[in-house]
Amino acid sequence: MIQLYIPLNFLGVIYREIKQSLTDIEKMFLLLDREREVADAPGAAELQVSGASVVFDNVRFAYEPSRPILHGISFEIPAGKKVAVVGPSGSGKSTLARLLYRFYDIDSGSIRIDGQDLRSVTQHSLRRAIGIVPQDTVLFNDTVAYNIAYGRPGASQTEVEAAARAAHIHHFIAGTPKGYETMVGERGLKLSGGEKQRVAIARTLLKNPPILIFDEATSALDSTNERAIQAELEAVGQDKTVLVIAHRLSTVVDAHEILVLEHGHIIERGHHDDLLARNGRYADMWRLQQSGD
Ligand code: ATP
Repeated sequence: MIQLYIPLNFLGVIYREIKQSLTDIEKMFLLLDREREVADAPGAAELQVSGASVVFDNVRFAYEPSRPILHGISFEIPAGKKVAVVGPSGSGKSTLARLLYRFYDIDSGSIRIDGQDLRSVTQHSLRRAIGIVPQDTVLFNDTVAYNIAYGRPGASQTEVEAAARAAHIHHFIAGTPKGYETMVGERGLKLSGGEKQRVAIARTLLKNPPILIFDEATSALDSTNERAIQAELEAVGQDKTVLVIAHRLSTVVDAHEILVLEHGHIIERGHHDDLLARNGRYADMWRLQQSGD
């Protein structure tokens, strides 16, 4: 019993950490099926994606009942549009992303994709429709090829390479002695933050889901790299339904709607220009970042 308990407990800790950082989630769900906090409803249907519009409708959520985190959040990401969420640390931005991926079930309200409540569809079909480019990509201790192909198991070498080219990581990979067979991860070649993020982008390109969640890096990239990666993310997000958790406001100016979140409430919302004209919290954040840059 003890022998069984310790590894499961250990995996549980890893699972929780990984869930927190939105990292390598699909793999964890496979490994730790039993740890799921949400379950498919009896007779759950496959999610049918048409345009992939996303709706949060008066969503309330708490990790612990005594401490509500989201207080009735409503917004829509129309099919093929981008909504950006900004706000101070701890305001609930990543929580929105976790709920869209259905890591947790909400306490009230609903989240719908093309009109289908997330709780009424299978988790498998839901997660197939969503790609996440996380802040910090944890790579598997395996080859570069495996790490990219993980986006779509069974992808051919040609497809893996095409994705790597599009993510501007091909030349780097080709320059290593073993190329795509180079081992990466903790026990292999260490990649920089930017290189890891490019692997994550290549993975997402291969998966080609209709809905994307970008959890922008808060740090770790120099500004040239950051601009390049930003441009690649823009390209990946073209014509897709995108939720961006943004730390740099320069990346949200073209969003269909910007939500300013504070303590789990949307305190301002609108287009960049409207929000600047309003001269409120967003405008303050914008001025602060401009002077910082
Ligand atoms: P950041 O910009 O720092 O990433 P955020 O706006 O994304 O912050 P969230 O990660 O959504 O913030 O967290 C919102 C609140 O929920 C925080 O107060 C956080 O402490 C709390 N929280 C997050 N995850 C959990 C959890 N697993 N259990 C309990 N509370 C949590």
